[in-house]
Amino acid sequence: MCYTAGHRIRGNQVHLELQETVQMLLAPGRELDLQGLTISGGEPLLAPGLMETVRAALDLGYSIKLLTSLFPHSPKKLELLLSLMDSPRHQIVVSYDSFKPAEVRQVRGRGSGELVTASIRWLVKKRAELGSQVRLSSNTVLQPANAGSLLNTLSFLLDELGFDQAIVQQRHDYTNISPGNIPRQAALRRSPAEIQLLAQAARQVFALAESNPRLAPAGGKLEDWLQFLTNPLDSRISCQALSYIYIDAFGNYRGCIHSTLLGSLRRTPLAEYLQSGPFLEFASFSQGCHLCTHSCS
Ligand code: SF4
Repeated sequence: MCYTAGHRIRGNQVHLELQETVQMLLAPGRELDLQGLTISGGEPLLAPGLMETVRAALDLGYSIKLLTSLFPHSPKKLELLLSLMDSPRHQIVVSYDSFKPAEVRQVRGRGSGELVTASIRWLVKKRAELGSQVRLSSNTVLQPANAGSLLNTLSFLLDELGFDQAIVQQRHDYTNISPGNIPRQAALRRSPAEIQLLAQAARQVFALAESNPRLAPAGGKLEDWLQFLTNPLDSRISCQALSYIYIDAFGNYRGCIHSTLLGSLRRTPLAEYLQSGPFLEFASFSQGCHLCTHSCS
């Protein structure tokens, strides 16, 4: 299950209460034999009720993957998570753009580079101190601002900090896609020089991954990445939408991470949603969609 733990209230949306999250979402998910819960954001560390949700999911037997930017730094919450998720079944995935603060500022548009690097060092040290077995992964989205330093960033994460895994992804900015608006989706604009830079970085990453199993380029093979760079509206890899059930902390269902809303948990129970017209229509559409290489991150 791909659960977006929102912290900003949009419009008149109301957060699911813990009881609703457990009784309407997490417990029925286990009855449907869902094994994993991926918690993303916004920033989940800012989401109300995160710890209670994690505890409830652990009690129900979920394997948890928590995606965070570590910004702002939340030592008390992180320490608790390291203790609660003390098993290699669980994973904390840190979004990390670059070991160069100036590049982080370029990507994020704010001055968080030094803080995130300090937080990531703290997290690695604290895991060792506590002897926590939770797996630590990083997620780097390749883009022109960080392409030139990508190998150094990966070396920092894998060699210096000893992360268990470093994931590298391509960037997609689609929102609210539906079967009807695919032709109007805009691809990212890249200059020929940027495409060349990204392609070179992609080749370097795939070459390094051959000798380092902890490095994981996501979203197909090198040929797929190069295809995506030159023809971004027509990825060749299979759509990942049906690998997850997508839902946010307000109870809104989506078909995939980029899709429009398909319903509400408060109106349609989980098992019923999976048999509903909007879900089945999106599921069928998704198998012919080639817009992105994303799953749940
Ligand atoms: S390829 Fe699949 S996951 Fe990506 S936008 Fe299309 S339907 Fe969503």
